[in-house]
Amino acid sequence: MPTQTVWIDPERLLKHHGVQVFQTYKDDDYDQGARRYTFTLDPQCGEGGSRCEDQPCQHLFDVRELSTWRPPQQPPFCTGANDTPENHAAWNEYFEREQEAIRTAIAAAIERAELTTSAWLPPAQENKANPASVPENESPTSPE
Ligand SMILES: [Zn+2]
Repeated sequence: MPTQTVWIDPERLLKHHGVQVFQTYKDDDYDQGARRYTFTLDPQCGEGGSRCEDQPCQHLFDVRELSTWRPPQQPPFCTGANDTPENHAAWNEYFEREQEAIRTAIAAAIERAELTTSAWLPPAQENKANPASVPENESPTSPE
């Protein structure tokens, strides 16, 4: 018996300033559930970006890589003495707060034009460079 793949639109997480953000799915399979942290700016462009018309694909992004990502503080892991109903409840609460943090980070990234209708534009690498990598006592570039 033949099987048929039916394409369906991904669920939209949010729309902000005209930029739409959609869920992605494990193996592009809706039934396997939405990815928690990976989203796409193009509903046609799912996991891996391999079917994307733009190569390399710039529609996919991981919310944890946005400069605006501020995760809530995690409770202790549910192991050993921490494997308590209270701690499980704390984790459920955490995941709800994390959902809010995801929306907040994406909206803020759109406002910074880090996310646009067509691409994720990560902040320039030099912004992330650690200034402490230059020894403090030396100033080889100071023009004296
Ligand atoms: Zn794409």
